[in-house]
Amino acid sequence: MFWTGELIARNAPVRRRPVAERPPRLDRAVAAYLGLAVGDALGATVEFLTPNEIRQQIGTHMDITGGGWLRLKPGQVTDDTTMSLALGESILGVGRVDALAAADAFDAWMRGKPVDIGNTVRRNLIGFRKTGNPEAPASEHDAGNGAAMRTLPVALATLGKPAETILAASRAQAHVTHHNTLSDAACETLIQMVHDLITGRDIHEIERERAAELVRRHPVFAYDRKRRDNPSGFVVETLQAVFQSFFGTESFEDCLIDVVNRGGDADTTGAIAGMLAGARYGCAEIPKRWLKTLDPASHDACERQAEALFGMSTLL
Ligand code: MN
Ligand code: MN
Repeated sequence: MFWTGELIARNAPVRRRPVAERPPRLDRAVAAYLGLAVGDALGATVEFLTPNEIRQQIGTHMDITGGGWLRLKPGQVTDDTTMSLALGESILGVGRVDALAAADAFDAWMRGKPVDIGNTVRRNLIGFRKTGNPEAPASEHDAGNGAAMRTLPVALATLGKPAETILAASRAQAHVTHHNTLSDAACETLIQMVHDLITGRDIHEIERERAAELVRRHPVFAYDRKRRDNPSGFVVETLQAVFQSFFGTESFEDCLIDVVNRGGDADTTGAIAGMLAGARYGCAEIPKRWLKTLDPASHDACERQAEALFGMSTLL
């Protein structure tokens, strides 16, 4: 596939460090990317099921087994991971987050016949093919989670950058397919959380400050940690489920099992929760059985890209 690392090797050579030599922040950056892929591969099996259907068919879903409505191989990832990798390649290729480069990368990704693709993503990429404008028209209806699910490469490339740079970068990538206030707010909050987590900030402070600020600005995002919702692809429901699981558990494994067993858009809640949990707990806390099952090409691409994007940040 086009994103498996050739472009990185050509344009932004990185000497890969042995895992044991990784500084803690780099380790958490890599764990965020592996967490995204692991959560995607784990959740895809139960995407669109209800919690009851999962209980009846599987019991507690806790292993990466493939299958699901997409009939995946065990360890295979979906658009959440592959669109992130396409975006990351575009950032490394031009040395910054660029809307046109991102749109071209997503367009090439779509031509590669991805295993799944969201309706809003498809519609607005077809629009881009017609107009050449990498910014989709603003729409109240485009509040799906398709931009939020792929925001990690922007977070890694903008670590330590000024707030205006981060905001512009987030919107540049997001608006290629989702030009929507709630999607923007979600993307920006997730990027800030990834930055906080990678720099080792206290989790309670992150919840009190970042999640609370999002809810203050957009009360529709209010979440109750005690609830176990069945989230749709609406970015608000996606983030509510992710926050319920992420702030309500104390290990990488518990967080992911909690979120994907809610069903619904489980590959995407898994991917976003996996990104946050990876950045919080680091590589050593990702269950080995999940990493072993993860598709090796995706594993390698995520790891290489996390290192290369982290290398662009000012935190080295
Ligand atoms: Mn997906
Ligand atoms: Mn999904």
